[in-house]
Amino acid sequence: MRITRLATAVVEANYDYTYVRIWNDKGEYGTGECFFAPGLTAALKEMAPLLIGRDPREVDRLARMLWRKGSGAGAVAGYLYNAVSGIEAALWDLVGKSLGVPIYQLLGGKMRDEVRIYCDCHAGDNIESWGPMLTERTPEWLRLATAGKPGHEERYDPQMYRDRAKTMAAAGFDALKFDIDSIVCLTGEELNRPLTGAEIDLMVECVAAARDGAGPGVDIAVDCHWRFAPSEAMRIARRMGDLNLFWLEDPCPPENIRDFADVKALGACPVLTGENLNRRHGFLDLITARAVDLVAPDLQKCGGLLEAKRIGELAEMQGIRVAPHNIASPLGTLASAHVCATLPNFAALEFHGSDVPFWMDLLDRPGTSGPLIQRGRIPMTESPGLGAELNETVARQYAKPGEGWFV
Ligand code: MG
Repeated sequence: MRITRLATAVVEANYDYTYVRIWNDKGEYGTGECFFAPGLTAALKEMAPLLIGRDPREVDRLARMLWRKGSGAGAVAGYLYNAVSGIEAALWDLVGKSLGVPIYQLLGGKMRDEVRIYCDCHAGDNIESWGPMLTERTPEWLRLATAGKPGHEERYDPQMYRDRAKTMAAAGFDALKFDIDSIVCLTGEELNRPLTGAEIDLMVECVAAARDGAGPGVDIAVDCHWRFAPSEAMRIARRMGDLNLFWLEDPCPPENIRDFADVKALGACPVLTGENLNRRHGFLDLITARAVDLVAPDLQKCGGLLEAKRIGELAEMQGIRVAPHNIASPLGTLASAHVCATLPNFAALEFHGSDVPFWMDLLDRPGTSGPLIQRGRIPMTESPGLGAELNETVARQYAKPGEGWFV
């Protein structure tokens, strides 16, 4: 079996959903999704000549070759890993289809029949769309969705958290995540000053309101986006301790794992990080030092589905659980679910598209009825490969201007 072609497509949603498709010499293809990055489709196309003529069944060999060829032949991090992760996932889809087995079978078989999803509820109540350098933009779907409504509204109060939690719990999710950094910091930058007592009180009130709105059976995690100095993060963690959080995410800047270890050592809240790390090597010190309680590899970025499985196994050896970060379309989300289904130490997988009106319509899943996520779970099926195809009739309506459609 030989690879004959690679092509890309981009959907302009809340982020760029970047797809890569790879064909073999029988005319079969697999599709993978990459985490967004500037110039990503150009990078993917630069990788095509390295793959044409190679055997797509040698997934790990090809991924390692691309790791080595990218980023100056010696880098263990960088956004070329976004490209390789999408290619690797496309190869698993192609090989699974070709062999007639689901991806999870190729990764050792599943530990569970459905994958628990946690719903990211952001903060505030505005719908957003971001370019690859996190510049805000207004594609046509967003303009229509917000027509007649007040403009971009930054509202962070307990009632909003309570209402949002109630709505999402009623939709069937039993795990939710809210941003708390935006309550005190709207600039997108690190907070270079101590928090006031009133600010921490407001954070606690907002999370307590979410807990109240969701009910006692729903897990609540909170995200800080690396915004606080360790001393501030510890003040927050202590105050959040009584709220029995699912986890406290990225409380400190990412550079120093000792900061996370200090927050974890308080024993007030489980601590999570890892969404921007690549390969096992990016996680190694964090995991061996037991600096966190959970790791959050992003499967469209970390190096591939098999590499995510290995990261999960590394974490398992230190009693650390895995809750993958995920801002992908349903196609990438389902690819992540295949890995989650195989991990004994899996906690929950993120869903970040609740504000995107067409998110659930982007995927066709033969043999199933209803949306991909049902009552907060993704049921796994026996369909080969990913077990789903991009609904191109829908997806193409949201194609990013200036990008080709699988050419
Ligand atoms: Mg996060």
